[in-house]
Amino acid sequence: MSTEKTKATFKKINATDKMKVIMEQHFRELDEAAKTKSRKIAWCTSVGPAELLRAAGFLVFFPENHGAMLGSTRMATDLIPLANAIGYSPDICSYLTADIGSYLKGASPISKAYPGVSGPPRPDVLVYNTNQCRDVHDWFNFYGREFNVPVIGVQTHRGVGDIAKSHIDSISSQIKALVPALEEIAGKKLDYDELKRVVGLSRQCTDLWKEVLEIASNKPSPLTFFDGTIQMGPAVVLRGEQRAVDYYKELLAELKQRVKDGVAAIDGEKFRIYWEGMPIWGKLRELSTQFAELSTCVLASTYCSSWVFPALDPDDPFDSMARAYIELFIVRDEYYKERYFENQINKYKIDGVIFHDAKTCPNNSNNRYGMPERLNKKYDMPMLVIHGDLNDLRCYSEEQARTNIEAFIEQLAEKKGK
Ligand code: SF4
Repeated sequence: MSTEKTKATFKKINATDKMKVIMEQHFRELDEAAKTKSRKIAWCTSVGPAELLRAAGFLVFFPENHGAMLGSTRMATDLIPLANAIGYSPDICSYLTADIGSYLKGASPISKAYPGVSGPPRPDVLVYNTNQCRDVHDWFNFYGREFNVPVIGVQTHRGVGDIAKSHIDSISSQIKALVPALEEIAGKKLDYDELKRVVGLSRQCTDLWKEVLEIASNKPSPLTFFDGTIQMGPAVVLRGEQRAVDYYKELLAELKQRVKDGVAAIDGEKFRIYWEGMPIWGKLRELSTQFAELSTCVLASTYCSSWVFPALDPDDPFDSMARAYIELFIVRDEYYKERYFENQINKYKIDGVIFHDAKTCPNNSNNRYGMPERLNKKYDMPMLVIHGDLNDLRCYSEEQARTNIEAFIEQLAEKKGK
């Protein structure tokens, strides 16, 4: 088995054109509502109770999505120091620091991408869920003080093993407790049938997104992790809306056709890699090119799978939202995570795993408590840890990462050649 380099070629996913249209609609609707005050706006953490907010009549904006845009446009590294200067440490979440820096400077990739849109829309309420980390709470409280608007949310247990009824009851009652405040801000009563409808749409979206991701289990894979980081947009910001469901139906049909036609995302796929941890947003292009040149398909990740919520049930909206938000990978204990990785390795027929140790996100860096070593021992499978960050490129040595990746693929080749 050789590791000779080939020329990287990327195949366009045609459905992406439609995704660009619905993402633009999303940002323009928010901008219009903020300017005309025609609709109330809620900011929500990525796995906060977005379904409840939509059903209560809010348009929903996700600051983490803005954080990722700041990373992928490479605006983040210059903006982070502005947040550091007002006391937000360079060691905490670089979505948070980049986003606050963006606010302080009045510079946003949203206004660059969509002329006429002012940037993040002014919120009427900020709604968090600490299921992923504490940083989101501090992040939203910054804006609560700036805009003088309420900050409400859910405090979730962490390091959860088996999920007990007491967990669900606790989260469900906290979600229900948000309703009076949301009704007051929205100026109307929550329509329970509308909540059921939105939860149903969110479930459809999530089921389709899961199918999209799992199509990568085919050999060769028609989809890469890097495609996934782009295609996940509607699952993140439009879950609970019909247009996200329609989009993923179209995308799935295209990917199924690829499988039928034997179209590989990476020509001559030789190695199949699992990416664990946050994307390095500002370096996706470089990384995807390097892997393609090495005939290696990075095809699955924990990150993209974090918007799969099979528990959502329109007939039991509050308890099912509670379960969906707590049974997430990031909330769970080390034993659960190990079993999860084993399942992913088998499902996607993985040759090796790359752990991204993101300097400012310990919550999504799962290499720090011996996991790669344990998996390596169990599966005799090469593991690589790359040190970097989601947004702060000062924490990432591209040269070192390139060298390590090349050596890693050589190791895989030797192993396969045995
Ligand atoms: S999970 Fe990590 S990237 Fe996400 S908000 Fe928390 S610290 Fe930031």
